Amino acid sequence: MTSLERLLLNQIAATGPLTLETYMAECLLHPLHGYYTTRDPLGRSGDFITAPEISQMFGELLGLCIAQAWVDQGAPATFVLAELGPGRGTLMADLLRATHAVPGFHAAAQIWLVEASAPLRAAQKTALPGYDVAWRDGTFDLPDSTPLFLIANEFFDALPIRQFTRHAQGWCETILGAVEGRLVRGYAAPVALPDLAHRMDDTTPGDVVEIRPKAAPLMARIGAQIAAYGGAAILIDYGNWRSRGDTLQGLQGHAFADPFKDPGQADLTAHVDFEALAQAAAPASTTSLTDQGALLARLGLGARAERLSRALTGAALENHLSATQRLTRAEEMGSLFKALALYPPQSPAPPGFD
Ligand code: SAH
Repeated sequence: MTSLERLLLNQIAATGPLTLETYMAECLLHPLHGYYTTRDPLGRSGDFITAPEISQMFGELLGLCIAQAWVDQGAPATFVLAELGPGRGTLMADLLRATHAVPGFHAAAQIWLVEASAPLRAAQKTALPGYDVAWRDGTFDLPDSTPLFLIANEFFDALPIRQFTRHAQGWCETILGAVEGRLVRGYAAPVALPDLAHRMDDTTPGDVVEIRPKAAPLMARIGAQIAAYGGAAILIDYGNWRSRGDTLQGLQGHAFADPFKDPGQADLTAHVDFEALAQAAAPASTTSLTDQGALLARLGLGARAERLSRALTGAALENHLSATQRLTRAEEMGSLFKALALYPPQSPAPPGFD
């Protein structure tokens, strides 16, 4: 039994069952035993690998997309360049390298990294030598009158969910209790939930839906800033416009793991419901949900991949070709991962989006 499992069992004994939101938050970010607070989980030796770790082209192309949006809005003289959940800092390092030649872009950017994990903050510092970086937690306050250009890759999938099963009398929340000293999943009694009124049309009794309580206030702040002062946000994650079903999953050592076994030792994520993010971001405008593969192709992945391949031979060339396919092919990350952009109602959408 992990130390965290013992703590959670004690908590259940003292105050009753836990929601999935509490469980997921404790597993990922418990100050002493949380998954992200105690390690760097990324890369081949870790539990999972993400697009920026697969190829430098991912951060480069998104960087040029953001820089073009900044130019399209008249190249404001100062702006916040933020990333949510920057992992090892690889995407930001690639983005900054690719935008070096954009006149005035670096001088105008105040770099903010929104990161909860101390080991990952340290990795980000190492990845960005010579840059003036400010770290923030998820409750950051944005400065008045400053445009915000923001990027988030695989951040929202790690924000805790609540999960509900539709029942004839209302919605039953998934909860965790204890039976014979073990964590066991169960369901609370049905209740009416005004927040799920819009899901009465596309679900029937027995269907499962998930919500992400921390996402809406965060998106509201980001959307309000962009609508009022300019900027853009690019959100990339796995999920769909509207998610349905139990999508909570654990990952350990690049394989699926039972999310309720060894709490704190596996990465826990759930599909992102992009409709909820888009709605919370009003009055900012949002693009349609765009496949990662289509977005990268439109931003010039083909030409960039060809350019990089010229300097490569043998295993390095093989790796480069397989990384390119992994990012874009429909059966790999190309259509499982989706992108949504926010932008000011009076400005054009960032390039590459539907
Ligand atoms: N974007 C990176 C890492 C994705 S993993 C990449 O693509 O490689 C999720 C990231 O979000 C990690 O950096 C993790 O520490 C961070 N994170 C998770 N929950 C968070 C929270 N509530 N507040 C701030 N950062 C969080």
